[in-house]
Amino acid sequence: MNETHDPSLTSWIESANSPDTDFPIQNLPFGVFSRKGDTERRVGVAVGDQIIDIGESLSANLWSGKARDVARWCDRPNLNELMQAPRESLSQFRARLSELLAGTPGDDSVINPLPPGALVPMAEAEMFPPADIGDYTDFYASIYHATNVGKLFRPDTPLFPNYKYVPIAYHGRASSIIISGAEVQRPSGQTTASGGGANTPVFGPTQMLDYEAEVGFFVGRGNERGQPIPIDEAENHLFGICLVNDWSARDIQSWEYQPLGPFLSKNFATTISPWVVTWEALQPYRVPAFFRPPGDPQPLPYLASEKDRNEGGIDLNIEVYIRSMLMREGRLRPSRLSLASLADMYWTPAQMLTHHASNGCNLRPGDLFASGTVSGPESGSQGCMLELTRRGAEPIVLPTGEERKFLHDGDEVILRAYLQREGAARIGLGECSGLIVASHRR
Ligand code: CA
Repeated sequence: MNETHDPSLTSWIESANSPDTDFPIQNLPFGVFSRKGDTERRVGVAVGDQIIDIGESLSANLWSGKARDVARWCDRPNLNELMQAPRESLSQFRARLSELLAGTPGDDSVINPLPPGALVPMAEAEMFPPADIGDYTDFYASIYHATNVGKLFRPDTPLFPNYKYVPIAYHGRASSIIISGAEVQRPSGQTTASGGGANTPVFGPTQMLDYEAEVGFFVGRGNERGQPIPIDEAENHLFGICLVNDWSARDIQSWEYQPLGPFLSKNFATTISPWVVTWEALQPYRVPAFFRPPGDPQPLPYLASEKDRNEGGIDLNIEVYIRSMLMREGRLRPSRLSLASLADMYWTPAQMLTHHASNGCNLRPGDLFASGTVSGPESGSQGCMLELTRRGAEPIVLPTGEERKFLHDGDEVILRAYLQREGAARIGLGECSGLIVASHRR
């Protein structure tokens, strides 16, 4: 940790000091935006309700040395190049930006050092996916999620014997990753009437549309094909995190998933939040890895490290909210469905990344992998409807009295996440939202 994490720091940008902002001066996440009415994509940093257009700031003589290298990599339409920057350079950039933004509103001795046009209100910007994402992988790292889902199908043996040895994942699809706020069209596919019991499918819109609340990890520096990444070097390859909603069609999934795993039940849309919180910003909120109770196997040596065991976890709280069309019409606030912590995951980000590259698979800057549904042990911590409603057997009731077994057209799902700890500022990831719209098929 360093002076950029100091919880007493304030900014001359007044909205950055609001207790409920996700983006105080201690956060400084990167994203890609355009000014409304303009098509040019720019790299920006979020502070309060403002975006710093770093490329625009290059005209002033604010940057030097390694921090200037990073500022120049911001003068691009995506973060791919910047994501490969050495840790040291990113750290110097962060320290300098923090210095430029620090101050007290109304203090006349503090002046805005940014050139005119480098400060863009978020309300006047449109956001885009932060990187050109070459590949996307989705893990299954919550043992609570894996157990809850497994119980629905195999009450006696919910976990497969490999679960405590292998960080399970499937290769997802990058082409259908969309940014928060984009609509999600109800997909069609093959389903069986009983949701798995019958053996003759029909083709039509899914009746079991679900969300999965997850955390995404952007790969920074890549690895050469054939060169695994040792566990203690794994975090040097992680650039930062965002929120991920892995939309899932459960009836399509249960018919298609054997023997090769999910396919069309998942790849129609994956929503991500626009701001990438950097690895350095996460440092105050690091916690030990999942405590493996006696009887659980220890990770195989290539996935084991004392450092990772002691501080490989991230204490990130992730919330899911829903707002139906009726709730919007009645001007009701979104209703919270769950709250869970990333600290409850069985596998750490470093273990997932090291496992991914352990066979020599090359990861590239801007690749994204997600944690899998974040669920905890308590009731109210289940990160998808499949778990919350036990596959529709126990519908949830919304404030309007409407029941939900799965998502209806017009429902909006909003993920939010924050990090807070004694002696540190509260920072957040912003929102990851999506509105369900009707299938084109009637
Ligand atoms: Ca998932």
